[in-house]
Amino acid sequence: MIQKSTDGISRARTDHHGPTTSRNRGVVVRSGVEPRLRDGTVRRRDDGETPMTEWTPTTCMRCAVGCGHLQQGYANHYGLDTVRGDANHPVNRGLACQRGIDETADPDGEWLTRPLIREDGKLVATNWETAIGTVVSRMEDALAETRDGVAVLGSGQQTNEAAYALGKLARGGFGTRYYDANTTLCMASAVTAYYQAFGSDAPPPTYEDIPEARTHVIWGANPAVAHPVMYRWIADSAADDGELIVVDPVESETVDDADHHVQLDPGTDLAFARAVLTQVVDDGGVDREFVAEATEGFEATVASLPAVEDAAETAGVPVETVERVADAFADPTLLYWGMGVNQSVQGTATARALIDLCLATGNLSPGSGPFSLTGQANSMGTRVCSSKGTWPGQREFTDPDHRETVAEAWNVPVDRLPDDPGPGPVGIVDAIADGPPEVCWTVATNPVAGMPDGDRVREALDETFLVAQDAFRTETVELADVVLPAATWGESEGTATNMERRVSRVRAATETSPKIKQDLDAIVAIGAEIDPDAFPEPEVSPRAAFDELRELTAGTAADLSGISYDRLDAELAVRWPAPASDEEGGYRYVDDDGWEFATSSGRARFSTGVHGGLAEPTDDDYPLTLTTGRRADAYNTGVRSRGDGTDAPPLARIHPETTLEYIEAFDRGKTVVASRRGSATVAVNPDDGVPKGILWLPIHHPAVNVLTLPAVDPESDEPNFKQCAVDVRAPRPSNPLVHEGHQATDGEPAATDD
Ligand code: SF4
Repeated sequence: MIQKSTDGISRARTDHHGPTTSRNRGVVVRSGVEPRLRDGTVRRRDDGETPMTEWTPTTCMRCAVGCGHLQQGYANHYGLDTVRGDANHPVNRGLACQRGIDETADPDGEWLTRPLIREDGKLVATNWETAIGTVVSRMEDALAETRDGVAVLGSGQQTNEAAYALGKLARGGFGTRYYDANTTLCMASAVTAYYQAFGSDAPPPTYEDIPEARTHVIWGANPAVAHPVMYRWIADSAADDGELIVVDPVESETVDDADHHVQLDPGTDLAFARAVLTQVVDDGGVDREFVAEATEGFEATVASLPAVEDAAETAGVPVETVERVADAFADPTLLYWGMGVNQSVQGTATARALIDLCLATGNLSPGSGPFSLTGQANSMGTRVCSSKGTWPGQREFTDPDHRETVAEAWNVPVDRLPDDPGPGPVGIVDAIADGPPEVCWTVATNPVAGMPDGDRVREALDETFLVAQDAFRTETVELADVVLPAATWGESEGTATNMERRVSRVRAATETSPKIKQDLDAIVAIGAEIDPDAFPEPEVSPRAAFDELRELTAGTAADLSGISYDRLDAELAVRWPAPASDEEGGYRYVDDDGWEFATSSGRARFSTGVHGGLAEPTDDDYPLTLTTGRRADAYNTGVRSRGDGTDAPPLARIHPETTLEYIEAFDRGKTVVASRRGSATVAVNPDDGVPKGILWLPIHHPAVNVLTLPAVDPESDEPNFKQCAVDVRAPRPSNPLVHEGHQATDGEPAATDD
């Protein structure tokens, strides 16, 4: 029996595991289900005698809160039986959310159970030797033409060890520019902003600062459903004599709890942030002492600020709202933000404007500061170790000394390392379509559903030799030429790093079939064939991979060298930077001697970004604005949570007056939403929580990204998922091209009259 509360946090049950006490309050136990096991069968645990493994302490791999789990598997079968929060884990102390538990113990989705290879247009079963042999052969042919012949798309779903090995192989073994991860689809703007402002990635605060803050500003995020355990701490702190302000164009579960909801127009976050800063300056709210002591560039920022009235009008909010938010920064403020800020052509500039607000008001010490909300469980780890935009340990990509160090550690020639980190995922898809990559390898990611302009992504990947490594059948797997079945949550060994920089062990609580490989094993098996100098052994243990990684980070801003597996066994989770085995990172950049940032001057930098308009404004042909957001159950392109609803159309939230205005486009509760890139049939949910003229669709439904815009932030390469222009048109049920969810087009909007 699971007791589910209205806030999504599950509390202790009181039967098998004793009464609820202060120690186990918030623990959830997952049991009494009939899990579908990795071999496709359903294991009925109704005899009461099925032997179980010992409880295994591990880390939830669903989101970047990084809760510790205890997991129990079957002793005589593959699969997890029970998952619960770990009361000893320093991150969550036993709390866990229902979705993290459910998607771990009993995920939706079709398991991959053996390697597959395409023959006569169909995916058929093969063995690992044939699969790896085919992959290596095609990669070697492509690399013989050019080092950029192989493109690699990784993921924040991988362990640190797998992400490190994949980056080492992509950059050092292949030497390709065309390597990135789906983390660029959600966090890249925040990452770029942190580097520009502080000289180093990752939020300065930690979870320990949440109870200390008085004002909590959540901007472009819905942590009530995306990060339930962390949100509990925020909501508790706000309720305890604090204040919760939510900035979001649409109402959400988080907005429901807010003391004040700033309902700005989509794509105007930068204008509103600048209006607030102008108001802070006008009100005399600047912390002059902090600005003088610890920052640079403030005068240029002030000179670039708009008039409050003008910027408020751009954002579609009254001046009084600007004044209210500016006032709130006078108290210790934590400013959290998410995809609503990052997924914009001005994502980096907007994230920097939020950091500017913290700098100007002196909100950069314990109990305050900028705190981006990382999505995927190990997105932070990928940022530190995968050689995606920097070398391991945040070593600068173009720095000759760092390149020399990395090449030496990997035993590869330094001139094999690519000169630049590449064009980001959208640019990689362009390169796959136009060359030079001839092979694309996806690892724990589903770009066909997760990237903007989905039809173009599908076409590009369909044309290339595609290797898909995953645990489940996805839209990307369906296009693959070779499928490598990978271990997943509860089956993998390694570590993950949560959004507050804590590294925590990931352990297998169940064995897997020999037909399944851990990500790390598959990567090393390919690496040993492609480049035996860099990968001299056909197998590398997770411990050895982590030791190699942490050695390479020694002395860097993201120093992991003091975090060993033995230490993690004892302490469960340790924050970086940890340069010694008895040291752990805390609030960054400040100590008893004052502030010291990782920039060349040691000072934090202000910015001068100015609102630049929408990436795709509405017009007569596309008069509505589409924005996208998270449904409570959707993560990781929804592969583990779609249930039987994969073919059901996504539910569009539209203001009732807008549905009336376009009434001819609606037929029996459905309409076709068309953008310049494609169209999708959606079910309509009239909802006055969405402003007039705006249409809201859930991310992760495979139909939605057919519509979205592939324009990217030029600084971060992050796509502008959050806003594009669309029209609504009447569905034609008799048209065989129209099916629930997605309607293919040839580049033109879906015609409703052909
Ligand atoms: S909040 Fe995130 S990390 Fe914690 S249990 Fe839920 S999904 Fe897992």
